[in-house]
Order: sequence, then structure tokens, then C-alpha cells
Amino acid sequence: MDEKSIFEKVRDREIPADIIYEDELCICFNDIAPQAPMHALLVPKKRIQRIGLASTSDSEILGHMMIKIPEITEFLGIAKSGYRLVINNGEDGGETVPHLHIHILGGRPLLWPPG
Ligand code: AMP
Repeated sequence: MDEKSIFEKVRDREIPADIIYEDELCICFNDIAPQAPMHALLVPKKRIQRIGLASTSDSEILGHMMIKIPEITEFLGIAKSGYRLVINNGEDGGETVPHLHIHILGGRPLLWPPG
């Protein structure tokens, strides 16, 4: 974990992003390759590599992120219509960026199972 993740570079304004929400613990910005009309990523500012590597010391950050979702989805205009939260973990989960992030997807009916 020597090199910064893409999301740490977004956090530090080293690469541009369309930032929707930010506070001391997390940052939320639009996904660069949206899979739905609304597709944002909610990311802890501290780099937790993936949910499978989270520990008890991350409880405050993770709880904080979950509690912020109603406010963020309200701002995105998808709170009432509905949305899906996704965390991809590891190879079979489809994880491509090794910095924990919650996908927030909405703006259309989403299929289940996800494939
Ligand atoms: P995952 O496959 O779950 O690891 O998700 C990584 C997500 O990050 C993908 O949906 C990518 O489109 C998205 N992504 C990668 N680079 C950027 C970036 N610079 N800004 C915004 N989203 C990004």
C-alpha cells in the first residue's frame, strides 16, 4: 500500500472528480463509468483496502458512511425512487480499485440477480 490509490488521489485533488459530498471521514463523487443514470461512489478518506480487511477500529468510519447515505441519496434525487448499494470485494466480487467504496446506483429499476 505504498502508492496512493486512485481514490486517495481524488481525495487529495490530484485527479479531478465530480464531488457530491465530503466531510472529515468520507468523500462521495460520481463514478467515471456510470452503470445507471445515477452512479456515485462513497469512499472513506482513510484507505481501507476492502470490506474483507476492515477491522473494529474502522467501525466509526463505516457506520458514519452508512448513516450519510439517506442525506446523499436525497441530494441525488433517488431517495424516494430507490437505489442499490454495492460493495465489490475481491476478484469474484468484481473489485477493481483496492480502496473500499460503496457504489450508490439509482435512477432506473435495477435487475436482480445482478449477474
Ligand atoms: P470496483 O470495480 O467495485 O472496484 O469499482 C471501481 C469503480 O471506480 C468503477 O465503477 C470505476 O468506474 C470507478 N472509477 C475508477 N476510476 C475512477 C475515477 N478516477 N473517478 C471516478 N470513478 C472511478
